[in-house]
Amino acid sequence: ETIPVHEHLARLTAGDIDVVRVVYPDLIGTDRARDVLVDQLSGACEHGLAFCRAVYHTSPQGDVVPVEGGLDRGLPDISVRPDLSTLRPLPWEPGVAWCLGEVVDPSDGGLVPESPRDLLRAVLNRYTEQGLVPVVGPELEYFLCEPSPTAPNGWRRYAETPGNVYTAGRRGDPDAHLLRTLRHLRDLGLGVSMGNHEFSSGQFEINLVHSSALDAADRTFLFKAAVKELARAEGRMATFMAKPFNDEGGSGFHLHLSCTAGEDGPNIFDDPSAPHGLSTTARHAIAGVLAHASALAALANPTINSYKRFGPDTLAPWLIDWGLDNRSAMLRIPPERGPGTRFELRLGDPSANPYLLLAGTLAAALLGIRDGQEPPAPLEGYGYDTSRAAILPMTLADALDAFETDGELIDLLGKGFAASYLAYKRNELERFHRHVTDWEFTEYAFHL
Ligand code: GLU
Ligand code: MG
Ligand code: MG
Repeated sequence: ETIPVHEHLARLTAGDIDVVRVVYPDLIGTDRARDVLVDQLSGACEHGLAFCRAVYHTSPQGDVVPVEGGLDRGLPDISVRPDLSTLRPLPWEPGVAWCLGEVVDPSDGGLVPESPRDLLRAVLNRYTEQGLVPVVGPELEYFLCEPSPTAPNGWRRYAETPGNVYTAGRRGDPDAHLLRTLRHLRDLGLGVSMGNHEFSSGQFEINLVHSSALDAADRTFLFKAAVKELARAEGRMATFMAKPFNDEGGSGFHLHLSCTAGEDGPNIFDDPSAPHGLSTTARHAIAGVLAHASALAALANPTINSYKRFGPDTLAPWLIDWGLDNRSAMLRIPPERGPGTRFELRLGDPSANPYLLLAGTLAAALLGIRDGQEPPAPLEGYGYDTSRAAILPMTLADALDAFETDGELIDLLGKGFAASYLAYKRNELERFHRHVTDWEFTEYAFHL
């Protein structure tokens, strides 16, 4: 049942909230926000908040990217309507509550084709038609950084202690960053279950509980924003980029995925009588993700930097393969069976827009189910042997080309979205190719 707006307002005022931060995810998954005084909120709910459409189409540096429907149309508005059922007080910002907004095109009241939440909804509708409900559990890794006047780009890793995976407490985290973050995320109601120190110094992982796909994507979107906000409030920076440092491994965004028959129905990936305890549907879904992996990388690994995370012996993937409880494979089947039967896609990195990573993965799995695709035998042992499987795209340019030519995936995600995404990301490549990097100077300046 929906609560009337005036009741929400009364509750906010009673809770000493006087500002609502209305956020929505843009094309690359950044949280774009306007802070609205509570006494103006009912108007915002009635008419929607105007955001310049360029917010979908500006680079992180604020450049307007030449995408269709942007500057060529004079940067018209999009309208964002606060969904008050998503209101949550920000535990570290007294007086402020967070609220997700629904994006519409004010010119016709219709959907904006590149709105990531609506894109995921469209893919989920295809599952609903088949009576299937995807269940998703996200795990994200990130690096915490501190300002440093001597570091080449102004930031160094937090706690330059010899951190290693599962380093306990203050030895890898002298200022208890993880504890403080976990407690704030719990108070925010994001369904976070646990966290740990990761393999690299200054690197952490936090796990979110599993839930239905849109809810899991919403929580991941808010999670990334919250972790970054909390770090900034401490004068630090949390980064979800894939491979921030040459001398340390990268960060992954692992996605655990299964499917139930209807809401609360049995897990249809589970079949104790089938090989490896995996149902026919699970096998087809796995085969679909393998078949579309190169295209999926464009969404799961969306930056130039993402491809520097892949490689042999990294625990990040390198080859397009799957294995039973094998962390060297791109797609791992964790050992649990019964209701816990699922796959863990280890492809993504946390720079991915969670809505797009989920939409793309679910679309690929659905194509495998639709076509009854069969995967090869699961990998056993060492997963970085190139004689056994194909290599993932090694650059963003290759992944974008693979995406552009994957007509089946694009049919499910929408041609309007694909055109915007490709234009945006190819602009990023162009800007990079014109930029002189530190590496070039070190490699060429002295000797040549
Ligand atoms: N950091 C690794 C990655 O980039 C994953 C390590 C792990 O298995 O936790 O995916
Ligand atoms: Mg990890
Ligand atoms: Mg994992």
